[in-house]
Amino acid sequence: MVTPNPEFAKEIAAAGGEMVKMCFQCGTCTAGCPSGRRTSYRVRKLMRMAQLGLKDEIIASDELWECSTCYTCVERCPRQVPIVDIVVALRNISVAEGHMRPQHKGTAKNFAKIGHTVKVDDKITALRGQIGLAEVPPTVLANEKAMADVSKILALTGFDKIVQE
Ligand code: SF4
Ligand code: SF4
Repeated sequence: MVTPNPEFAKEIAAAGGEMVKMCFQCGTCTAGCPSGRRTSYRVRKLMRMAQLGLKDEIIASDELWECSTCYTCVERCPRQVPIVDIVVALRNISVAEGHMRPQHKGTAKNFAKIGHTVKVDDKITALRGQIGLAEVPPTVLANEKAMADVSKILALTGFDKIVQE
């Protein structure tokens, strides 16, 4: 038995997904979705679940993370529903409520710690040297102030706490 949550529509709208109400369930998005061909993900169903306010079912689902953000559905939707924006809005709500996947958390932890999602390890450093690049890339890795700014943004948005939980 699922329990609709009428307040969820407001949450989705606040997160940038207000246009989900424009979906009239034609199924064009699912018909062209490459992720749906290989997984149990059905984007039309996700839009309907969002309209119905099935928050608990959406934010805990694996399918929410199957969209590759290829935008095929957005290009084809006859109602011009910004489907990817809605998927991202739902993912943001999901993460804010503690449903971050371990793989995503690992990547996010790297970002919170060093300002990059992928660590520059010894192998990468050696390869950089071989092709004449500086050992440390001229990014946030070589700029303490920029890293401090990243940390500040993460703290202000509360993302640092979500990542560490
Ligand atoms: S293509 Fe657009 S209108 Fe049709 S089901 Fe998908 S989101 Fe809804
Ligand atoms: S953007 Fe996501 S939902 Fe849309 S077609 Fe691509 S994989 Fe499917």
